[in-house]
Amino acid sequence: MVQKINAADAMLKVLEDWGVTQVYGLPGGSLDSTMNAFANRRSTIEFVQVRHEEVGALAASGLAKISGQIGVTVGSAGPGAVHLLNGLYDAQYDHVPVLAIVGQVPTGAMNTDYFQEMNENPMFADVSVYNRTVMTAEQMPHVIDEAIRQAYKYKGVAVVTIPKDLGWQEIADDYVSSAHLYQKPIMPEPDPGRVDQALAILKNAQRPIIYVGQGARGATKDIMALSEKLSLPIVVTAPAKDVVPDDYVANMGSAGRVASKPGVEIARAADAVLFLGSNFPFQAYFINPDAKYIQVDIDAAQFGRRHTVDVAILADAKKVVRMMLDRSTPRPQNAWYKAALADKVNWQAWVDSFAESTVTPLRVEPIFAQINKMATDDAIFQVDVGNVTINGMRFLDTSRGQKFSTSGWYATMGYALPAAIGAQMTYPDKQVWAIAGDGGFSMVMQDIITEVKYKLPIINVVLSNESLGFIEAEQDDTKQVHSGVALQPGMRYADAAVALGATGFEVTTLDELKAAFAAAKDADGPVVINVHTNNERPLPVEQLVLDTKTQDPDAVAAFVKKYHAQGLIPLRELLEQAAKGEIAPEQLGD
Ligand code: FAD
Repeated sequence: MVQKINAADAMLKVLEDWGVTQVYGLPGGSLDSTMNAFANRRSTIEFVQVRHEEVGALAASGLAKISGQIGVTVGSAGPGAVHLLNGLYDAQYDHVPVLAIVGQVPTGAMNTDYFQEMNENPMFADVSVYNRTVMTAEQMPHVIDEAIRQAYKYKGVAVVTIPKDLGWQEIADDYVSSAHLYQKPIMPEPDPGRVDQALAILKNAQRPIIYVGQGARGATKDIMALSEKLSLPIVVTAPAKDVVPDDYVANMGSAGRVASKPGVEIARAADAVLFLGSNFPFQAYFINPDAKYIQVDIDAAQFGRRHTVDVAILADAKKVVRMMLDRSTPRPQNAWYKAALADKVNWQAWVDSFAESTVTPLRVEPIFAQINKMATDDAIFQVDVGNVTINGMRFLDTSRGQKFSTSGWYATMGYALPAAIGAQMTYPDKQVWAIAGDGGFSMVMQDIITEVKYKLPIINVVLSNESLGFIEAEQDDTKQVHSGVALQPGMRYADAAVALGATGFEVTTLDELKAAFAAAKDADGPVVINVHTNNERPLPVEQLVLDTKTQDPDAVAAFVKKYHAQGLIPLRELLEQAAKGEIAPEQLGD
């Protein structure tokens, strides 16, 4: 005789089959059978009680970005469901698999204007690759299985809405999930003819580069080998920061506003771009529109979206790079390559020059110098949105294999702390950082309570500049008055965290900063280091493209003077030096 099981328990058995060990959320009346099942199955699946459903959804997204595994979150009918939305959009936009299990009023009350009842399917339609309401108890394990398959296949969000009464019903305990059948998709092979065309473009170019997006994840060594063989500087997108080691000589960092000086200059001046697995949204502004352009993607719908394309290669980025390595001959280092390397060395020296700055309110560079010093090789950096994204991209060092993520496409503030919870729950033995500005941190700081409750040794670093600085800079650039950007001054977020049970440090000087980081090593449980920083705008490197053909020559001259005063050398000067053979070996990072 077939055993019987509550439908909600049968649903969780499917999650277990798929290797899910944590689910993030808050209970609610409409989720009662699901919560009962969590209690029944607590030896295999941990229900992680967060203090806001948005945090649960962002934790699920943040863990999926770091691990590649599906993240699972729950929200109850009505408000709980609505709170999930922000985290789900983050996952959907950055293409990671997340399952949201959503409560609904009982079937008998649905569609009758009942308490907390809402039509959930249309609300989730835009944020999902799969979005269904379960119709019968027997369906529950089957629909959850289907949802997980779809989330993995389409790299996005699956939403399953479950009426309250169904989970309690007993069904046959005979559902066999498809988890054991799952296989990673087979990646398309490159066409050798197109690869040869691409190689010809790179060979004939004067200023070629590789532009690396997160579709090239896993190809680190091959990308560096190609860069070396063909003498190609590399620019990375923000989500691909950890794809190429920061200390690789030809890694220029990223282009855009969340960028480094060499990244911006090199992308803008390149005459040929090998664009690998990226959908960088701001290409029109930051990649030379006249450059020859080789686009590699596994999704043909991406071709030509933001730049005219000379060669499109529908294939896995790693396979393309390997084929290029096989079919190419070495391309000697030219003035362009040498100038790029010198640009990076010059920029890094500028960055390093502030590492021990004692100026108060503190600059941000000493904070990142301390983070880099303390970070383990397997550290995970979850970085928030705003000026902190710029600073994290510039100053965090992922050279030893550290992982980095942020809310890339959706760019939601309040990402770092929840994403760190997801990462630390998934990797209890790794060092996890949540790095946020005071704006982002104060959106989700209630979930320090979650870090305390689950004894998560997350190191939360808050950069308190008392402003929504990223937007303040936009208001400056568009000559608006500052409006709505000033944050309440003097907030003692670390002291507040201490009141919630964390270890906290309020920091105003370099000595206090060093002492806080030294003490953080020995803390038991979560740490909050609130650093009171200055509100200096991150150097606007996006304005550093100094072209007298398109810009006012006097303004360019003023810029050059300003940057020279800081020890920064414009790329065009380095190019002139390189063309004359005047670049010294130490300028190349040798
Ligand atoms: P995605 O957008 O995820 O694109 C990946 C591409 O790779 C897709 O086209 C996909 O089809 C393809 N792909 C997947 N797998 C493979 C494979 N195996 N082989 C080949 N192709 C594959 N980013 C910047 O770079 N510069 C900025 O200045 C910048 N400013 C930002 C400011 C803020 C405040 C924030 C929060 C984010 C900012 N970002 C910036 C991030 C930016 O918004 C995008 O998230 C980012 O540029 C997209 O990165 P991507 O192209 O690597 O990833």
